Amino acid sequence: MTPRLFDTHFHLDLVADPKGTVRQIESDGTPTIAVTNAPSVYESTARMSAGSRHVRPALGLHPELAAERHRELGLFARLLPSTRYVGEVGLDYVTQDPSVRRTQRRVFEEIVGLCDAAGDKVLTVHSRRAEADVVATFGDQFRGAVILHWYSGSLGTLDKATARGFYVSVNPAMARGKRFAQILDRVPRDQVLLETDGPFVSVGKRPALPHDTSRVVDRVSQLWGVPKDEVVAKLFDNFERLLRSGASAASARGVGAHLR
Ligand code: MN
Repeated sequence: MTPRLFDTHFHLDLVADPKGTVRQIESDGTPTIAVTNAPSVYESTARMSAGSRHVRPALGLHPELAAERHRELGLFARLLPSTRYVGEVGLDYVTQDPSVRRTQRRVFEEIVGLCDAAGDKVLTVHSRRAEADVVATFGDQFRGAVILHWYSGSLGTLDKATARGFYVSVNPAMARGKRFAQILDRVPRDQVLLETDGPFVSVGKRPALPHDTSRVVDRVSQLWGVPKDEVVAKLFDNFERLLRSGASAASARGVGAHLR
């Protein structure tokens, strides 16, 4: 495919006009992973994007919903064979409540185990204030592709994650932030990916859309000292490698042929 913008973390079901947004994504030609926050909303997101060439619905269970939605883990397991994409999942230690954190860990460990067994999943992962536990949960034998979404932890844990081959997706809000240069500098260039986290991230006065990853490209171009079209080519190459990696891992073990 011709190098182009893409978005590995976008909340299609939470925008004001999902159908219109799908049409815009199609006309822009921007491959987009449409994350969901609970298994019970995955199917409606999948329906919204049915027939779309560029929207890939992802099955998720957001850590901030884990305490109230952990009963949906059974539904998560049943739906998992219907998609290669998983997110938003992870841990969020903004809560101080030890029992909520425990439930988050139990849910996340179960999800990571299911994805490891499947072998070809692409996960977009939330890790706020819980980065070390997120990386530890995957261990060093995880079968699948991991994208750390909106990473904001220590550089030491970031190094550990990238040494394991994890990708790091960066969004317009991160690109405006003080730590961006430091984080970008630390991630190998072939492990950087784009995201918006729209509509939670804004661009100007409106919620970010997948094509707003162009704002991130602008900033990366400045920091790397590389022309914008070369940045897009490099990052799109990373995106294509990400998609190949999971698939080949699964087919090498003789599974996944029935998965799309
Ligand atoms: Mn998100």
